[in-house]
Amino acid sequence: MELIALPAFTDNYIWMLHDGTDAVVVDPGEAAPVLSALDERHLALAGILVTHHHGDHVGGIDELRSRLKGAVHGPKRERIPEPFVAVADGDVVDVLGLRFEVIEVPGHTAGHVAYFHAGRDSAPILFCGDTLFSGGCGRLFEGTAAQMHASLGRLAALPGETRVCCAHEYTLSNLRFARAVEPGNAALARYSADCEATRAAGRPTLPSTIAVERSINPFLRCDQAEVTASARAQGARSPEGTEVFATLRRWKNEFR
Ligand SMILES: [Zn+2]
Ligand SMILES: [Zn+2]
Repeated sequence: MELIALPAFTDNYIWMLHDGTDAVVVDPGEAAPVLSALDERHLALAGILVTHHHGDHVGGIDELRSRLKGAVHGPKRERIPEPFVAVADGDVVDVLGLRFEVIEVPGHTAGHVAYFHAGRDSAPILFCGDTLFSGGCGRLFEGTAAQMHASLGRLAALPGETRVCCAHEYTLSNLRFARAVEPGNAALARYSADCEATRAAGRPTLPSTIAVERSINPFLRCDQAEVTASARAQGARSPEGTEVFATLRRWKNEFR
């Protein structure tokens, strides 16, 4: 199995997983990068997974249908281009012979889902759309801070070696914010330097891992003293997790 990040638009990634014959893609916001990747590698398109309804995640689906041998799976609570197989929390989706568990992660949108493969011979895989980013998280367009905080908590509890496949290359700007929140986090400083070198070489910073995110992503670290103190300095009314999270999210929206 090979896992590839196909760049799309300015900073999206369409994730492709393939076994040399069949491929599945996640959140094809546009069709062209998927079609070229399929043609270059002589792959058939066996399935499409969708995390949420935003145009940069679903815009290429209809154009890909003529090449699609299997189904489009997408969140039950959202409007995805029809036809699609609606999935909800706890459902299992079989793609390329791999079991993916559906985890509902409301917050960025009301019905956002993530897909998690526990892995047997290789590290687990998480397709998390616009919920968890490396060093950050999605904006709250439809859900509440409490929902997003709980959703990120579920993802943070996955095995540390899980490969985190997010839908955007936002890492460097997220890490600038993360360093403002936690200037004393040495792991974060090292990771930032690594990611800057990776981007300078023109490579994706993703996938990250859950273990890395737990150590550097302030939105997963709302219980850490330095994060709490920074949030209090930005107006958090208490050190309670959701209040700290909500304060960080508001602060990030204005951070330049
Ligand atoms: Zn989105
Ligand atoms: Zn997006």
